[in-house]
Amino acid sequence: MPPLLSHYLDGQWESAGAAAESLNPSDTRDIVARIPLDDGSAVAAAVHAATKAFPAWADASLEVRSDVLDRVGSTILARKEDLGRMLSREEGKTLPEGIGEVIRAGRIFKFFAGEALRRTGVTVDSTRAGVDAATYREPLGVVGLITPWNFPIAIPAWKSAPALCFGNTVVLKPSELTPALAVALTEIVHEAGMPKGVFNLVIGSGAAGGALAAHADVAALSFTGSQATGARVASAAIARQARLQLEMGGKNPLVVLDDCDLDRAVQCALDGAFFATGQRCTASSRLIVTAGIYERFTAALAAKVAALRVGDALAPETQIGPLASQAQMDKTLAYLDIAAREGGVRRAGGEALSLAQPGYYVSPALIVDTQLDMRINREEVFGPVAAVVRVRDYDEALAAANAGEFGLSAGIMTSSLKYARHFTRNVRAGMVMTNLATAGVDYHVPFGGTRKSSYGAREQGFAAVDFYTQIKTSYSWA
Ligand code: NDP
Repeated sequence: MPPLLSHYLDGQWESAGAAAESLNPSDTRDIVARIPLDDGSAVAAAVHAATKAFPAWADASLEVRSDVLDRVGSTILARKEDLGRMLSREEGKTLPEGIGEVIRAGRIFKFFAGEALRRTGVTVDSTRAGVDAATYREPLGVVGLITPWNFPIAIPAWKSAPALCFGNTVVLKPSELTPALAVALTEIVHEAGMPKGVFNLVIGSGAAGGALAAHADVAALSFTGSQATGARVASAAIARQARLQLEMGGKNPLVVLDDCDLDRAVQCALDGAFFATGQRCTASSRLIVTAGIYERFTAALAAKVAALRVGDALAPETQIGPLASQAQMDKTLAYLDIAAREGGVRRAGGEALSLAQPGYYVSPALIVDTQLDMRINREEVFGPVAAVVRVRDYDEALAAANAGEFGLSAGIMTSSLKYARHFTRNVRAGMVMTNLATAGVDYHVPFGGTRKSSYGAREQGFAAVDFYTQIKTSYSWA
């Protein structure tokens, strides 16, 4: 019998009846877990516990907070193999990708164990004689974290580690598609000695996320997911003036110029567009290629794409795992139809695959000869699909990269310092890569985008302090 997952409220595991199942997308006969779906009461209990726990956690010494985070990070790293396996089984990314994500989560906790000791304010001379002025960074209170299925441990880690580091208490609502990793993370947090009520987990559907966003005692919300849901979370949060951070994906351009290293460009496009089955918000889903290299680039990339081995996420020979769900598979296939109807030419892949075991398998697809205004170039597919646009020169490439409503990550493949520098300064994106894939980022630097990709302060690294603390300015005279 698959395990029944529980909520974690005020330091206790609270079971509720099974209302849904999480499935292995590589073999849908394999039920990973049975899960409760909160009707709102677990959210209320979690927020209540987090509210009670906040004053003591906010006042805890920096070393207490740092040590707990450090223990969490160490345990995650020590368990990278079994957690990586669990992740690949539940989400569908390959085992090396699953283990890599777990390592990233462990490193994030280690990083914020250090950041906990680095909380700084400033002292300034007042304009008034005899008066001192200073600023302090203070925690916000209860922070609600709503996370998606595509990075089921890294995203909970990169939201909860900084929240806890700076003295906030947390209610985490992971995606109902991949709750097992959030439960594993919570077990590790519990065993690391986190005081009760500081970290709470509610397993639920979108309705639980909605209840969290609307709860009057949640001081701030950090959300990653689709634009449509992000907009709903935003209206609930803004209506009650809660602090808000949204990360909602992209349509990330990789510009390939005539003067680039062709092999490297092909490898970056392959990695950026297709690994993790294209289910990364930073995926290189638009390949913008200048005319002089277009034929050679598309031919070389199509050959590599066609050779990718699609299969069970846990099989050692697999390079591309399944999509995460039936909905993701349907959406990917629907966009392939749309692209074909709009005139895109399929150069590789794009087929639903029937393997020995039932799963959500689609062969990675390369669509060439697309136009910028096609839906395949404007809307996020979130699957193993890349569309190629032919442009005349660098200027047209930059304009194409800047088209559309997203602005998360952008890349350029070139040997020209002039173009690389100009692109870095002029592309409208929160992250820019030169001779690198658009996906694949460090954890100690800011993450986030412009326009419809992100809203609010940047996530991660040294920038996280801006979202998870508020500044108090003090004046004193004696
Ligand atoms: P959603 O935006 O629906 O889900 C993200 C999170 O929000 C999940 O925890 C979800 O819960 C929760 N949620 C759902 N409805 C509400 C609500 N009304 N109020 C508050 N929280 C809610 O994304 P999906 O998982 O459904 O994916 C749909 C599409 O979103 C993908 O195809 C992809 O394009 C995009 N996406 C982008 C991501 C990114 O990193 N930018 C990540 C994931 C998805 P639950 O899952 O339990 O319903």
